[in-house]
Amino acid sequence: MPTPHPFTLSVRDIVQKPGRMREVEETAPFGEKVGEGLATVLPDQPVELDARLESVHEGILVTGEAFVTALATCSRCLVEFDLDVEVDFLELFAYAGASETDYLVVDETVDLLPVVRDAVVLALPFQPVDRPDCSGLDPETGERLEPGTEYVPKETIDPRWAALQGFTEDVTDDKSEDGAQAPKKE
Ligand SMILES: [Zn+2]
Repeated sequence: MPTPHPFTLSVRDIVQKPGRMREVEETAPFGEKVGEGLATVLPDQPVELDARLESVHEGILVTGEAFVTALATCSRCLVEFDLDVEVDFLELFAYAGASETDYLVVDETVDLLPVVRDAVVLALPFQPVDRPDCSGLDPETGERLEPGTEYVPKETIDPRWAALQGFTEDVTDDKSEDGAQAPKKE
């Protein structure tokens, strides 16, 4: 029989004793990667769980918080960074047949792992940014722009550059139609 995850908590002491309650602190990794996309929690990353187990008539009411550091990739500049995630949850683990819930008290335990995991998944951002003023990448060079700066596209024809271009053409193009710019012939 596999060892239960540390977030599977025994409630033997408070089962069927409405009014009794107990607080629990546990720290354990999920054991699998959680989240898809740009922010994920790695399998070995410790998750801190702080829960309050309360015996009610229908079952065990669990309220709590969890903290974990996710690995995120900035959606603007693609840099990787640590993202602290904090979630709150509230769930009723019912006695079989006592109430319509997603979770049940099984063998006098409550399994908080799926509850915490689902709460963390919902809290992971779709488009994480490493800092609020991240300016992303320069579309031309691909390098990170200085935070707080705004990308300003270069004008396609800078007047000074255009003048220089004309000059270069005049000097190098010996076969100009009118010959006016070919001083060697004079
Ligand atoms: Zn960024």
